[in-house]
Amino acid sequence: MSFTNQEKFVDSPRRWALRGDLLDFTAAPRWGDTESSAVRFDRGHWLLVEDGRIVGRQAAEPDATWVRKDHAGQLVLPGFIDTHVHCPQLEVIGSYGTELLDWLKRYTFPSECAFADPARSRAGAEVFLDALLASGTTSAVVFPTVHKVSAEALFGSAAARGMRLVTGKVLMDRHAPDGLRDDVVQAEKDCIDLISRFHGRDRLAYAVTVRFAPTSTPEQLAMAGALCRADASLYMQTHVAENRAEVAWVGELFPQARSYLDVYDAVGLVHERSVLAHGIYLDPHDRVVIADRGAQVAHCPSSNLFLGSGLFDWPGAAFNVSLASDVGGGTSLSLPRNMLDAYKIQALRGERMTAWAALHAATRGAAEALQLGGEIGGLSVGQTADICVWDWAAGPVAEARDAVARELHERVFAWMTLADERNLAACYVAGRPML
Ligand SMILES: [Zn+2]
Repeated sequence: MSFTNQEKFVDSPRRWALRGDLLDFTAAPRWGDTESSAVRFDRGHWLLVEDGRIVGRQAAEPDATWVRKDHAGQLVLPGFIDTHVHCPQLEVIGSYGTELLDWLKRYTFPSECAFADPARSRAGAEVFLDALLASGTTSAVVFPTVHKVSAEALFGSAAARGMRLVTGKVLMDRHAPDGLRDDVVQAEKDCIDLISRFHGRDRLAYAVTVRFAPTSTPEQLAMAGALCRADASLYMQTHVAENRAEVAWVGELFPQARSYLDVYDAVGLVHERSVLAHGIYLDPHDRVVIADRGAQVAHCPSSNLFLGSGLFDWPGAAFNVSLASDVGGGTSLSLPRNMLDAYKIQALRGERMTAWAALHAATRGAAEALQLGGEIGGLSVGQTADICVWDWAAGPVAEARDAVARELHERVFAWMTLADERNLAACYVAGRPML
């Protein structure tokens, strides 16, 4: 299914109600706890939705003035939040044979060049956002390309779908091929224009978007930091400490910096609205800085495994950790698929990640870290009705597994391990059906 314009979206009734097995979080679950008071599970309960917001959550069936959608026996979760993903990289997903720096040069940069064309940017944004929704992801923090039109296309397409989206034109003024570099003066003008047109409009927000330290000059990094300091409501997104060769390169390019993270911190880019992707090779001081600033790390498990980047120390993180697909380095937009990879990463480190830790990081945890907890990431009265309905099991193997699950964590963990977009039965954004 694809949506090419706003007219294709189906309008929903002003007041409607949905029944299912409601699961969300009231707090952060403790690492390792399979039984957690932070989990809120209401089997066969109703959510009441009015004008795109959740206005009730109850056991009792609502009266006949509410249009009813009965999903009894299905799992109802808040829409997932993917905190790090690249729109223009859909078509390089599953590219063979390289680590980060070669992978950028061989696959990613050539693909991103095409987004200079507004029509290509628009088509790419439409396909990308529909693919996110088809995976149960209703909010995202997204990298477009260096081209201003690629950010405009994402903002426009997200607004047409009513989605909560954080993005911004990528800043890169060196160590990138022709057609993918900007310069400090023009980039600053473009950012200011995009911020004035899109930041805070509908459900859109602007992120000052530094690709990563090697592709920005110190002057551009200083400009990016100044933008953040001038407006504390702006987000910031970038990559940090993903790969050993990358970390060594940053050390050569910025010999005065104490660490890779310090390159960003020294110019004011690490703050409570910063989303730092990866964070595998952080030292103890970096970890304290991230926690002190209130920033978050977007953990990208399938990307880290696929590119052979490394094993993220999640239980050792004293800062906010959210979950991200990092497509096209990641191999699936599906956050359940990424949750399974996160579990495997911790298993290789001798740890065990619960389904609660993963689901919280993809919903309430990400929302709180983005300072959007009142709007997204949960199924509470007052929040926007970004709601996904999932089959507990799809196909005979999953059905057999689900049938013998005894406790809630066992059942949800098996779901997380086996589910993908085929399990998604319905997806609502601000109360409107998207599937
Ligand atoms: Zn990335």
